[in-house]
Amino acid sequence: MTQTEHTPASDRRRRGISRGKSGVDERTRRAFTERMRVTAIGGGTYEVDSQSGHSYLVDLEGGRCTCPDHVYRGERCKHLRRVAIDVSEGRVPPPGKMAVDCAVCGVELFVDEGAHAPHLCGDHEFGVGDLVYDRETGNRVLVVGTPERRADDISIRRGHSVADHYSNADYPEDDAVVAAVYPQSLQFTADGPVPPSLTVYTFPRSRLSPSPPERSAATAAP
Ligand SMILES: [Zn+2]
Ligand SMILES: [Zn+2]
Repeated sequence: MTQTEHTPASDRRRRGISRGKSGVDERTRRAFTERMRVTAIGGGTYEVDSQSGHSYLVDLEGGRCTCPDHVYRGERCKHLRRVAIDVSEGRVPPPGKMAVDCAVCGVELFVDEGAHAPHLCGDHEFGVGDLVYDRETGNRVLVVGTPERRADDISIRRGHSVADHYSNADYPEDDAVVAAVYPQSLQFTADGPVPPSLTVYTFPRSRLSPSPPERSAATAAP
């Protein structure tokens, strides 16, 4: 297969020629074979950089594209088809999701648009009942809650939020928070750990790590 460089004008002519009965298959073939870069830009909209050098915007759910093939001929153009293909094959996030990297291992994830960092993959996400490590002290804490609240939105003292606390200065103010207790204070029963006194501490999520912190990051004993 050879690919020819062509100007936008000749590109439009070529698309015009592909109208008609065979045009359907031709658009699908091009959607699969042409070099296009699809980028999710949010709100269910995708930017498609085509091999002609033009960029078009695709509204996947609305079935719309800004290219001439769609705007002037009303066709389900190759850009729309390519976005649908890339979404169904997991190369770009579906509408309502965004692509982010796991804060621990860097693997790409699709999370809800507007979800707060840090983002964690299935191997590195933690939930209620998990024992995790406090990066500041190296202590292990038991997660007892993962409320959908921001660190700068939870008061721990008159007028001061979790984010304001001096020990949280290195973590984002808009971090989601995690409620945790110190397992040293727990009693263990057949039903699991039961805290004798519910002293719950609230941490910015990125302060907690599923794995032990690096030796240098932990508080070193003198
Ligand atoms: Zn198009
Ligand atoms: Zn991960």
